[in-house]
Amino acid sequence: MFEKMISALCNAEKIGIFTHTNPDGDAMGSAYSLKLVLEGMGKQAAVFLQSHPDSAALHLIFKGADSALDKSECDLLVALDCGDSKRLGEDEAFFLSHANTVAMDHHVTHQPFAKETVVEGISSTCELMLGLYRAMQVPLSGTVARNLYIGMVSDTGNFKYEGLTADTFRAAAALVEAGVDFAEISKKLFDTKTMEYYHLMRIALDRLSLYQDGKIAALYLSEEDFQKAGIEESQAPGIVTLPVSIEGVEAGIYLRRRGSEYKVSLRSAGKVDVAAVAAVMGGGGHVRASGYSVFQTLDPQDIIEDAIEQLQKQL
Ligand code: 5GP
Ligand code: MN
Repeated sequence: MFEKMISALCNAEKIGIFTHTNPDGDAMGSAYSLKLVLEGMGKQAAVFLQSHPDSAALHLIFKGADSALDKSECDLLVALDCGDSKRLGEDEAFFLSHANTVAMDHHVTHQPFAKETVVEGISSTCELMLGLYRAMQVPLSGTVARNLYIGMVSDTGNFKYEGLTADTFRAAAALVEAGVDFAEISKKLFDTKTMEYYHLMRIALDRLSLYQDGKIAALYLSEEDFQKAGIEESQAPGIVTLPVSIEGVEAGIYLRRRGSEYKVSLRSAGKVDVAAVAAVMGGGGHVRASGYSVFQTLDPQDIIEDAIEQLQKQL
């Protein structure tokens, strides 16, 4: 399944790696692992990020990992963990106009936009990358293994989401065998929060509301809320699971403003397929975690009502 991907990578000399805006652990881990693998093959490679990673911990882990490469000189562009071309943000037009592009992704809702694509609905893009590196027969360095583990642990919620397969645990075991310090990674990614994060959490707890007999919970945080807490929206990823963590709630909505758009994140407790709902609204994602953007200037409450209208069809 990786043949075309491997020949594209082997035939290129200067490779630009792209991922989605507000990159999460899977985006960062897959992108920087590929950069290292390609450099190990004697190629020039660089990760072109659209924005800072979605947590301070990720920012610290990957600080200084960049190398200089002129974007316009790349003879191959790779998109990782991007469900559709819009998720490339400002690099979308550049990517789409390039003659030689490939994409690897694990979103079941993936809408192909590259010349060559590998999609498999597994835990993470990082798990898919591990399959690729095995097919390429490249040795797993400690840092490559660490980066892949960061992606797997991020997209599985520290190996606790439903739908996890034995294959994913086996992939993780291979990374642990390669020397990954899993305890250190989990501590950095999941168990360390800033005081500002808890200020925001206090505001968020006040703002939670229940709908549909407590089966849907929604949370809207305004720009002022983030200012008051002293934290950027992109640095508070854990807030998103707050609504769905309430007992009896089947679907959670988290709404916030991101520049000129409203960002809606949906989470399901299991029964509701939020990937289908996001797809109807022009977004995508996974059965239990999905999202979409609203570009009109609507009242936040109206955006929440629209999401509820779609979600309740599945209750
Ligand atoms: P999050 O709510 O954490 O931003 O995203 C949850 C999942 O939904 C992720 O897998 C993400 O890729 C996907 N997702 C979020 N927003 C969008 C969007 O606007 N378009 C698409 N296609 N997928 C999205
Ligand atoms: Mn992912």
